Amino acid sequence: MARVRCYLRVMTAPALPLVDQFQRTISYLRLSVTDRCDLRCTYCMPERQQFLPRTEVLTLEELHKLSLGFIARGITKIRLTGGEPLVRRDVIDLVRAVGRKLGDGLEELTMTTNATRLAGFADDLARAGVRRINVSLDTLDRATFQRIARRDALPQVLEGLAAAREAGLAVKINTVALKGINEDAIPDLIAWAHGQGFDLTLIEVMPLGEVEEDRFDHYLPLPQVREALERRWTLTPSSHRTGGPARYFHVEETGGRVGLITPLTNNFCEGCNRIRVTATGQLYPCLGGNERVDLRAAVRSEDPDAAIDEALNIAMRIKPERHNFAIDERGGAPALARHMSMTGG
Ligand code: SAM
Ligand code: SF4
Repeated sequence: MARVRCYLRVMTAPALPLVDQFQRTISYLRLSVTDRCDLRCTYCMPERQQFLPRTEVLTLEELHKLSLGFIARGITKIRLTGGEPLVRRDVIDLVRAVGRKLGDGLEELTMTTNATRLAGFADDLARAGVRRINVSLDTLDRATFQRIARRDALPQVLEGLAAAREAGLAVKINTVALKGINEDAIPDLIAWAHGQGFDLTLIEVMPLGEVEEDRFDHYLPLPQVREALERRWTLTPSSHRTGGPARYFHVEETGGRVGLITPLTNNFCEGCNRIRVTATGQLYPCLGGNERVDLRAAVRSEDPDAAIDEALNIAMRIKPERHNFAIDERGGAPALARHMSMTGG
């Protein structure tokens, strides 16, 4: 079993900005606001996922306080995620509160959502200063959606996407490439997304947390998808970068952009600018590692400002050089016991 290390020492030695021991400047925070979700995507969590007791999850006030602490240390981009961020009651209050820092240290506030509840939130998100969102969508076929998400929610998702467009939010679709499930429909999904004015990024399935299916069965290496796309379209490498792991291609025939995230076939750690915080306040400096710092203890301590600062200093010292994912054995244990829904995608 993977060893879990937890570090927290309370000392005051604030150092700006956040730079790790490999000289990577950290400017991007993915903040999970809940581990709960209304879908049960097969690659993400089991049907009977045990959710955390609410007392273990940070309050909205604590999430706000942490966000301010991060912004004070040079975080310029915050992505709210989960679980499904829009299932957390009053999450929009947090969006509004953090949104007030836009233009005052914070450059961008975004969200990753499954869009099942987006129709009711798109306007409020836009009013709070959100300009772009990522929506996870693996298929446009209702039965395939139900097979992947174990819930029949495609119509709500499409309504949510229409509302986002109406509200003027730029949308990027995230699609997990699944061998034998959505593999053949990926080009049509891309064509549809580009027709709607959405970018689309393909993701390889990652070995995070136990699920009922063997991920090896559905692991689809993206270089293979790229070859299939190139048989149909002209793809030109794009200089577009978001500071993240995606590499982008311009599709001449659709006029849109496709991103490829290949954690398993390519290592993308060199330029990593991000850290992640779970809904319980555990800061994971790497999605693919077990190193962590307890920010909940820091934010609940007697001197939260100093404790948060020190916790961030520790995070910079323990951020590993690279992740250690691998899907190489059928039936092998997941590289990490944590589900993506816990760390935040
Ligand atoms: N519920 C929201 C959603 O689905 O957009 C936000 C959280 S979800 C964990 C974030 C992203 O992680 C989604 O795009 C999802 O497809 C992706 N994801 C979840 N488990 C994954 C896995 N094991 N490998 C690759 N991507 C995964
Ligand atoms: Fe929920 Fe997102 Fe995980 Fe799907 S990928 S189960 S929508 S958290």
